[in-house]
Amino acid sequence: MLKPTLPKSYKSSQEVAAPKVSNGDAPFWETKTLAEMNFEEWESLCDGCGLCCLNKLQDEDTDEIAYTCVVCSYSDVTTGRCKDYDNRNTNVPTCVQLTAELASEFHWLPTTCAYRLLAAGAALPSWHPLITGDPKSVQQAKVGLTAIKVVVDNGQLDYEDYLIDAL
Ligand code: SF4
Repeated sequence: MLKPTLPKSYKSSQEVAAPKVSNGDAPFWETKTLAEMNFEEWESLCDGCGLCCLNKLQDEDTDEIAYTCVVCSYSDVTTGRCKDYDNRNTNVPTCVQLTAELASEFHWLPTTCAYRLLAAGAALPSWHPLITGDPKSVQQAKVGLTAIKVVVDNGQLDYEDYLIDAL
């Protein structure tokens, strides 16, 4: 049986200016662990894809998590960003706050998510804004909420009708 779980993590954030990388220096995401990053660096890892804001269901027997295409009503589906980021935890108490520790445990995060990738020792994708310097490169790469068909949650939907393949 499937039950609602972890509707979203906290990182469908507002855009944050990328920390500066000095010429010749390795960028912080290649030299620091997630736990060593400062707030500005941590925030800049979020590419704003918004995929973590899709509702999910968890199998009560196996704990397996399945994505649905139902997105949080606070998500701006034209940008993938949260419409009320500062108040996300008040608006949606189940909005999970991602931490360095949880990034390595949340295997349900999208495979493109920078937190998941770095926690696993992988590199950032070539379209990541920290690489391109352009936040629009995410949409141009057809990654995120804006690249898939989604349904905005209205509190009346049976999520099991909206299951999608893993992201
Ligand atoms: S899935 Fe990862 S990169 Fe995408 S919005 Fe959520 S935290 Fe940010």
